[in-house]
Amino acid sequence: MKRLLIVVVIAALVAAFFALGFNDYLTLDRLKGSQAQFEQWLTQYPLLVPLAFFALYVLVTALSLPGAAIMTLAGGALFGLGQGLLLVSFASSVGATLAFLAARFVLRGSVEKRFSDRLQAINRGVDREGAFYLFTLRLVPVFPFFIINLVMGLTRLKTWTFYWVSQLGMLAGTVVYVNAGTQLAEIDSLGGIFSPGLILSFVLLGIFPWVAKAIVRWVQRKRVYKRWQKPQHFDRNLVVIGGGAGGLVSAYIGATVRAKVSLVEAHKMGGDCLNYGCVPSKALIKSAKVAHQMRHADEYGLAAAQPAFSFRAVMARVHRVIKDIEPHDSAERYTGLGVDVVQGYATIIDPWTVEIARADGETQRLTTRSIIIAAGAQPLVPDLPGLEDSDYVTSDTLWERFAELDSPPPRLIVLGGGPIGSELSHAFARLGSHVSQVEKGPRILAKEDEEVSELARQCMAADGVAVLTEHEALRCERNGDKKVLVVKHQGAEKRLEYDQLLVAVGRTARLTGYGLEELGISAERTIDTNEYLETLYPNIYAAGDVAGPYQFTHTASHMAWYAAVNALFGQFKRFKVDYRVIPWSTFIDPEVARVGISEAEAIEQGIEFEVARFELHELDRAIADSATTGFIKVLTPKGKDKILGVVIVGSEASNLMTEFVLAMRHGLGLNKILGTIHTYPTLSEANKYTAGEWKKAHKPETILNWLEKYHTWRRGA
Ligand SMILES: Cc1cc2nc3c(=O)[nH]c(=O)nc-3n(C[C@H](O)[C@H](O)[C@H](O)COP(=O)(O)OP(=O)(O)OC[C@H]3O[C@@H](n4cnc5c(N)ncnc54)[C@H](O)[C@@H]3O)c2cc1C
Repeated sequence: MKRLLIVVVIAALVAAFFALGFNDYLTLDRLKGSQAQFEQWLTQYPLLVPLAFFALYVLVTALSLPGAAIMTLAGGALFGLGQGLLLVSFASSVGATLAFLAARFVLRGSVEKRFSDRLQAINRGVDREGAFYLFTLRLVPVFPFFIINLVMGLTRLKTWTFYWVSQLGMLAGTVVYVNAGTQLAEIDSLGGIFSPGLILSFVLLGIFPWVAKAIVRWVQRKRVYKRWQKPQHFDRNLVVIGGGAGGLVSAYIGATVRAKVSLVEAHKMGGDCLNYGCVPSKALIKSAKVAHQMRHADEYGLAAAQPAFSFRAVMARVHRVIKDIEPHDSAERYTGLGVDVVQGYATIIDPWTVEIARADGETQRLTTRSIIIAAGAQPLVPDLPGLEDSDYVTSDTLWERFAELDSPPPRLIVLGGGPIGSELSHAFARLGSHVSQVEKGPRILAKEDEEVSELARQCMAADGVAVLTEHEALRCERNGDKKVLVVKHQGAEKRLEYDQLLVAVGRTARLTGYGLEELGISAERTIDTNEYLETLYPNIYAAGDVAGPYQFTHTASHMAWYAAVNALFGQFKRFKVDYRVIPWSTFIDPEVARVGISEAEAIEQGIEFEVARFELHELDRAIADSATTGFIKVLTPKGKDKILGVVIVGSEASNLMTEFVLAMRHGLGLNKILGTIHTYPTLSEANKYTAGEWKKAHKPETILNWLEKYHTWRRGA
C-alpha cells in the first residue's frame, strides 16, 4: 500500500512537472534569458533563493527529471563557484540518494524475486567492490546520472556508502559544470562543456581506483613475501603435494599445458579414495548387496539362499578391485603423461621451495613458481577414554585388518551416523555382522531432511542394523578379550559388547608436519583459502579435503582445476571456484542422492519454495525390479520450474541424479526435463514423472476450462 502511494506521488509530481511546462524552463537559452531576473531575486531574498534552489535541485534529481545539468550551470551562474559548488554538490547527492531509495523501495523486491540468481551474483560483487564501481561510474560523466541512481537502488549497496561515494565521485564533474556556469554567456551548448580531452581525463580518473587497488594488492603480496628470499630461477612451474584426487587432477592439468610439474606422494598413489575410501567401500557394498539379493531371491521367484562365503574372499575381492583401478592413478601413468612423480614426504620450506624426504632415502629440494597442497584428510579419532586400547579400526586401517578375518566380525559397533558410518554399517549387516550403529545426535544422515534420515534408518534396520541414535559414546572398557563400549542414552549408561569397533565420526584435514605452521598459513579446521584457492601466499594453493568445505572425490577434482589453472595462469586471469551445484550420494540401499538445497535448508534460509514429488512405487521399472522403496523430491521457487534442490532416495539414485545436476548447472528447468524423451522402461523415467508432477500442479486451469467449453461446442452438445 505504502509502495503504491509512493508510486502515485512520484507519478503525479513528474506529470505536474511536464504539464506545467517546467521542462521548458530548464534549457540553456531560458537560463541565459532569465539570469538577470534570477540575480535580482537573489539580491532581494539572499537566503530564500539559495534554499529554494537547493530544494528544487533535490526534487529534480530525486524524481530523475531532465534538467540537472542546466541547474548545475545555474548554480554557478547565480551563486558563483564556491557557494554554487556547495549547493549543487550537496543537493545532487541528496537528490541522487532519494532516487536511489525510491528505486530500492518500489522496485527492488519484485526485481529480486524475478532475477534472484543474477542479482545474487551482482550483489556479491557489490558487497566486495560496490564503492569502487560507483566511484568509477560517478567520475566518468558519460554514464547518465539518473540511471546510476536507479540501478544502484536495486542492489544491496548501503545507503550511506551510496551517499558519500556519490558526493565524492561527482565532485570533479560538478566543479567543471559549476565553473562553466560562472561564464554562462560564453556557453553555446551543454555538449561544449566537456571537451574530448576533459572526458579522457575523467576516464583516467575513473580507472584510478582500480589501478590503486591493483597496487594495494601488489604491496600486500610483497609484504607477505618480505621475509623470504625468492629464487632467481625455478626448477618447476608447479609442485603438487599429495597424490589423491585433488593432487592427481592438478598434476594432470599442469602436464597437459606443458608445465614442468612434480607430484609428491608420501604413501599410496590414488590417495584415500582409491586405497581406503570410495573404491574399497563400494566394492564391499556390492558384495553385501549380492548377499542380500541371494537372501531375498524369493522376491524374484527364485529360491532364497543363505549366502555361504568366505569373508577372506570378499576382502580379497575388495583388494583386487583396488589393484584393478590402481593403474589409473599410478606413478607410471602420470609419468607417461609428463608428470615428475616423486615418492616421498613433502615439506614446504619457503613459498617457493619444497623439500622431499624421498622414499629411497634421499632428500631433494625443488624450487617452484607455485605449490598446490592436496594433502587430504584423515579419520577423526575422538578423545574417548579407553579408545587407544580398544583395538578400534578406522577407514584407514579397516581394509588391511579385516582382510585377515575368516568371517565378518560377529558383533561390530560402528561409531558415527554420517555417510561413511551408514554405508559400512549397512554393508556389514548384510554380510552377517550384528551391527550397532552408535550416533550421538537424534538421527543418522543429519545433513539430509528428516524424512530421508527416517527412511534410511528403516531400510538399514530392516537389514539388521541396530541404529542407536541419541546414544553418546562415553568410554571403552576392556577386560581380557571382552570389549565394551559404554554409551549414555536418555541419562542412563548402557554397555555394548563388541568384537570390532569401527570409528567413523568424521574426517579431519591434514594440517600439520609439512610446513604450514612455519609459513604462518592459517589452518584451523581446513587450510584457509580465498575464492581463487590461494592461501596466505598467492602462489600456494590448496584443493580437496585439506581445503574443504566439501569432502568428496569429485569436489577435490573440481577444485583442482581452479587451483591448477590459477597457479599456472593466474597472472593473466584468475577463476573463482564455483560451488553452486555440488551433488553427493550415500551408498546405502536404497541410495540417497542430493544436490542443491534441502527442504530444511530452504525453510531456514527463508526461501519460498514448492515441492514436486514422485514415489518410486508408481514407476513401471521400479516395480519390475522390485525396487519400489524411495522417492524423488524436487524443490522449485513458487510458480517456477527452476530447480533449487533435489533429493532422490532409491535404487541407482546416484546415477539418476546426474540429469538434475546437468539441468541445474546449465539453468534448465523441469519443463525441459519433461520435454526430453526418456527410454521406457527405465528408472530415469522417474525424473521425467517428477517434472510431470510439477506440471500437473501448474496446469492452466482457465485455459483448460475454455478448452472444455470449446470441445463441448464442437460436439454440438
Ligand atoms: C570410507 C570412505 C568412503 C568414501 N566414499 C566416497 C564416495 O563414495 N564418494 C566421494 O566422492 N568421496 C568419498 N570419500 C571421500 C574421498 O575419499 C575424499 O574426498 C577424497 O579422497 C579427497 O581427495 P584429496 O585429493 O583431497 O585427498 P586424499 O585422497 O586424501 O589424498 C591426499 C594424499 O596426500 C598425501 N600426503 C599428505 N601429506 C603429504 C605430504 N606432506 N607429502 C606428500 N604426500 C602427502 C597422502 O598420503 C594422500 O595420499 C570417501 C572417504 C572414505 C574414507
